[in-house]
Amino acid sequence: MATRVSGANAELLARAERVMPGGVSSPVRAYRAVGGSPPFIVSGDRSRVRDAEGRSYIDLVCSWGPLIAGHAHPDVVAAIEAQARRGTSFGAPTPLEVELAETVVQGVPGVEMLRFVSSGTEACLSAVRLARAATGRDPILKFAGCYHGHADPLLAKAGSGVATLGLPDSAGVPIAATRDTVTVAYNDLDATEAAATARPLAAIVVEPFAGNMGCVPPDPGFLEGLRRISDRTGALLVFDEVITGFRVARGGAQERTGVRADVVCLGKVIGGGLPVGAYAGTAAIMRHVAPVGPMYQAGTLSGNPLAMAAGLATLKLLDAAAYARLESLGARLEAGLDRVARDAGIPARVQRVASLLTLFFAPGPIRNEDDAKAADRSRFARFHGAMLARGVLLPPSQLECLFLSLAHTDEDVDTVTSAAALALRQIAG
Ligand SMILES: *Cc1c(COP(=O)(O)O)cnc(C)c1O
Repeated sequence: MATRVSGANAELLARAERVMPGGVSSPVRAYRAVGGSPPFIVSGDRSRVRDAEGRSYIDLVCSWGPLIAGHAHPDVVAAIEAQARRGTSFGAPTPLEVELAETVVQGVPGVEMLRFVSSGTEACLSAVRLARAATGRDPILKFAGCYHGHADPLLAKAGSGVATLGLPDSAGVPIAATRDTVTVAYNDLDATEAAATARPLAAIVVEPFAGNMGCVPPDPGFLEGLRRISDRTGALLVFDEVITGFRVARGGAQERTGVRADVVCLGKVIGGGLPVGAYAGTAAIMRHVAPVGPMYQAGTLSGNPLAMAAGLATLKLLDAAAYARLESLGARLEAGLDRVARDAGIPARVQRVASLLTLFFAPGPIRNEDDAKAADRSRFARFHGAMLARGVLLPPSQLECLFLSLAHTDEDVDTVTSAAALALRQIAG
């Protein structure tokens, strides 16, 4: 069954590089942070993917989060197939989007209404527009190392993919577009308090569990402090739960921490592997959105039926037992990686929230972007290559989380741990 086509990945990369910048549709996929060239993936089944050379890998990328049910889950495939036969897009309201919206409203604390979009980027840029519309203020605050998609005002200190000074992180972003974006260090309440006092903010935007500088949980009291500052200053608290929504708990970080946000951004899991995002809040806040209110936002493929079907089928799988399972898988991998790193005598630290995890090559806790960037990224690059050679596909950057799914087994986790033991021994010193 393993049709080996040697050199197929390299040939595809050469072709891809001729017609797409870096040969990819999203920069991190090009493996620039770890070196080497990426496998071209032709299929996925449960916890595994297969590349163009017929090699099989245990996949710990899981499409960067959406695939909480694993690859090609039969229920998700069946839902997409059934809908495809009925039509793929109508540009009109459909029953499926009502059902998915009701499912999200039921699951996420404080959310009464939402608007579907097609990506996390759209969800976040629309949430910022909504906060500005609702408050009549322009300035927003974000945290260094948090990524909220690639919209101009949010491309300042935006984490893994990009990096620099309250200035735009990307060429082509006008200074004016980020002038109203204040950036402070994650987990720094004093700096947040000072910034929110200096200027009336429309929004404090945060990844409640940061996932785009590796896995960085909030310090005890940090999110509660943001809630307090928002209440005192009239800024809306925006939780970007594009990763954490329906992943760290059904109700996301709000359910896990008990801290309420005013606006929630969703994506990834709610689309079950198809392109979906959403921004959500109370009815009072969402009433600012057109056609009910004056804030314009629209999308030809928003609420796309195939995507709604995939999202619904995925969310149906996420009961209490599913979250217990994801937690136990995560704990098993955390314990395993922690043990093999200690055995190898390598300064390393596993940080985890539920089924999100990063093995940082650093001696101490990682609380913010500066800490994360001080981790040994060249050691991570060697580790990544050694794991790839052993059939484990890790996210190709130290500053990312790996993702577990319901399709991963205890045996998968133990295979990953054994591979890590050998890989760490190989790269030690
Ligand atoms: C992935 C991500 C986004 C952007 O979502 P896209 O679908 O890639 O546009 C926004 N915020 C967070 C926290 C993310 O992890």
